[in-house]
Amino acid sequence: MGVDALMLTEDEAEVDRIMQICNACRYCEGFCAVFPAMTHRLDFIKGDIHYLANVCHNCGACLHACQYAPPHEFAVNVPQAMAKVRAQTYTDYAWPASFGAMYKRAGLTTALSMAFGLALFLILVLLARGSLIHEPLAGNFYAIFPHNMLALMFGLVFGFAILALAIGAVRFWRDVSPPQSLKKDSGPALIQATSDILTLHYLGGGHGEGCNNEDDRYTLWRRRFHHLTFYGFLLCFAATSTATLYHYLLDWPAPYPITSLPVIFGTVGGIGLLIGPAGLLWMNLKRDPQHGDAAQKPMDRGFIVLLFVISITGLALLILRDTGLMALLLAIHLGFVMAMFVTMPYGKFAHGVYRGAALLKYALESKPKK
Ligand code: SF4
Ligand code: SF4
Repeated sequence: MGVDALMLTEDEAEVDRIMQICNACRYCEGFCAVFPAMTHRLDFIKGDIHYLANVCHNCGACLHACQYAPPHEFAVNVPQAMAKVRAQTYTDYAWPASFGAMYKRAGLTTALSMAFGLALFLILVLLARGSLIHEPLAGNFYAIFPHNMLALMFGLVFGFAILALAIGAVRFWRDVSPPQSLKKDSGPALIQATSDILTLHYLGGGHGEGCNNEDDRYTLWRRRFHHLTFYGFLLCFAATSTATLYHYLLDWPAPYPITSLPVIFGTVGGIGLLIGPAGLLWMNLKRDPQHGDAAQKPMDRGFIVLLFVISITGLALLILRDTGLMALLLAIHLGFVMAMFVTMPYGKFAHGVYRGAALLKYALESKPKK
């Protein structure tokens, strides 16, 4: 279902109002990609507003620098206005739309109740089979849940999540970037956008000293915790992918020794995925309430808690895999992983996909940085 191209919502109209003021002022031009992208436009249609909202990294720099910020009567609060529209885009482009709407209404409850519900379901299955408490099994997960059953369950859920994210990204791209804006030679733009994504360039606050979090001071810790979370997630994914290759190509089933690639990737990634979300939660709790959209904080925190529990149960599984606690830990871990996969196209995870697309559009319409 397409997004209405003409009627602006209240939140979109607020971004439009603020961008008109910023376009006259332009003091923040060097802070991030939002302001140069803004200067390419005199009017802001829905697609432009969605694009700018997803380019904004909510670093807070323009709020702390703005002479028209509240309590000034112009009440210019760019990060807050952008954050509200950003959250709306997760619903507007969601597939299926009804899932997106449900997640918008009760994102935190949906994610956490699904995680606890799935973990409880798996625990009850094990209880019914009499295998919740067991003798040590030398870390053999497949003695608890057979490999083919896990591969089918997680393959289906993961495939659904990737399909839903891809459909959302295509819908977003169609709205923010009409076909004529694509250039034939988009290689340099792709490299620029990839570099901006991998380095989280715009969490440097425009001067490289970092974001404003709770006050006027700059901090690079938001970028560092994001990096730990992002690369920790990628390493955990690499651990699962390597284990799958070992299983099917080398006919080498789990458990794997401590020195094997799946365990090394999983351990290093798991530690990153523990420190990163813990740090992000700590910063989120201390954050200046004027930054971002307070209504989204429960959703942000819910996602952070999901990642944290996945990581801590994953590491506990590695340490305690040769004990009678393995089945219980495995059930909790798998329940939370599955809940994350099911909800990732609709909430905080999706912001990475839309932001990546928005940064690509910015790189396409700008000259690559030297
Ligand atoms: S945020 Fe404030 S200072 Fe920055 S460009 Fe907009 S109006 Fe000017
Ligand atoms: S909050 Fe940061 S990223 Fe967002 S518009 Fe302002 S300076 Fe740019």
